[in-house]
Amino acid sequence: MQTFQQYIGGAFEDAGAAFDSLDPATGTPWAQMPAASAADVDRAVCAAEAAFFSSEWAGMSATQRGKLLLRLADLVAENAPRLAELETRDTGKIIRETSAQIAYVAEYYRYYAGLADKIEGAHLPIDKPDMEVWLRREPVGVVAAIVPWNSQLFLSAVKIGPALAAGCTVVVKASEEAPAPMLEFARIFDQAGFPPGVLNVITGGPEAGAALTSHASVAHVAFTGGPETARHIVRNSAENLASTSLELGGKSPFIVFDDADLESAVNAQVSGIFAATGQSCVAGSRLVIQKGIKDAFLARLKEKAEAVVIGAPQDMATEVGPLCTLKQRDHALRLIQTSLQAGAKLVTGGAAVEGEGFYFPPTILDCSEAPEAPCLSSEFFGPVLSVVSFETEAEALEIANNTAFGLASGVFTQNLTRAHRMIRGIRAGIVWVNTYRAVSPIAPFGGHGLSGHGREGGLQAALDYTRVKAVWLRTSDDPIPDPFVMR
Ligand code: NAD
Repeated sequence: MQTFQQYIGGAFEDAGAAFDSLDPATGTPWAQMPAASAADVDRAVCAAEAAFFSSEWAGMSATQRGKLLLRLADLVAENAPRLAELETRDTGKIIRETSAQIAYVAEYYRYYAGLADKIEGAHLPIDKPDMEVWLRREPVGVVAAIVPWNSQLFLSAVKIGPALAAGCTVVVKASEEAPAPMLEFARIFDQAGFPPGVLNVITGGPEAGAALTSHASVAHVAFTGGPETARHIVRNSAENLASTSLELGGKSPFIVFDDADLESAVNAQVSGIFAATGQSCVAGSRLVIQKGIKDAFLARLKEKAEAVVIGAPQDMATEVGPLCTLKQRDHALRLIQTSLQAGAKLVTGGAAVEGEGFYFPPTILDCSEAPEAPCLSSEFFGPVLSVVSFETEAEALEIANNTAFGLASGVFTQNLTRAHRMIRGIRAGIVWVNTYRAVSPIAPFGGHGLSGHGREGGLQAALDYTRVKAVWLRTSDDPIPDPFVMR
């Protein structure tokens, strides 16, 4: 079995305890991971705090921070194949997705490298004579970054990149389900030349997470994961009144009007729900389709879903790999069962693939006659599509917004004015029109409601890792009058 180490204060070390990570393709242990204790968490935060105030980091110019981030970007690009292999092994995410995604992760570091020396303060036209007032933008301090197991190199890059660009230091807690790529990333980071303690990488479950988010020296918690965990995190961070940014789940509507380019819409829907084996926060998991085209569209989707190549995640021909954990598969099975009981009809899939590993096939549930089916409101985080139909545009919008989440959405139509009305009406942080799942370091990403708050990506994300200091400077040489002498 391979063994991995945690990374604290610039050194690689074992933790007090260890746990096995399972290979989702076989369900058997393949590597030993360090389980951070509360004491390890404390050391990691202290290392980040010491680095934050050190002259090496605090005294470094923003331009130099940018150069280090650029070096990191190059190292990530060079090591992308190795990182992709590890992520595939530990999470079951298929190799063609991890390879493409990690190569693109380098672009996120490149983007924030360029932003580092463009985070500017401001000068205020103050309403008082002989006074100069300006705003300095300063880093918030130690950031706790907590990531889930899916796409963790991407989900950590959108936290580490802007935080370091702003001058913060970071402790990342990788998910206990599949921490290998994050722990390996630490080895790559170590070669980039940052001062020790600027980034620390640990792993462990809810206890390590709670110790990190309630630590008195943490200024900001950047979290990606489920809403229930987010509630724990907000409660814990209240100890220290740390700020939070929360990127949570979704139940995103994928709306298709009868004037859409149907071939494009079918392909986008297939990738929108079955890519990453459906384990994607932005999965277009509710197909909202106009009645007249529903049957033809569903027939085409069913055909594509049944033709999907399910197989070993390491195989370049594989299109759908295993789910990351058995827990995820059991959750999908239960939710399908209760949805069928509520009147949903199974179009295809629905049962676990027999044999070793946590495989689950592309599944479609027609809920046209079951608007209360739980599959329409609960996140699967698996390759399961729920379908509802509508007649009018107003009905489409009502169905789309009938969710406690608000992360992503897709609209397929050739009608320009209707597209604009939908863009205005949909309550979500992202609207994709005639496309789906496009992301970029330049564009903000995030949602509201049960999908959380805050944005990752873009300039705003870097500003969110800063706070403003107002500076007042009196420019008059006249003495300040004695306040107790009446004039
Ligand atoms: P999860 O919420 O179970 O775990 C996420 C992380 O939180 C893990 O590292 C876990 O160890 C940690 N954690 C657990 N309990 C904690 C506690 N009490 N305090 C602090 N940390 C704690 O999520 P998951 O099952 O790993 O991932 C799937 C979820 O993530 C889905 O809901 C999905 O939609 C969401 N997600 C969101 C985005 C986004 O950008 N919006 C992206 C990917 C995944």
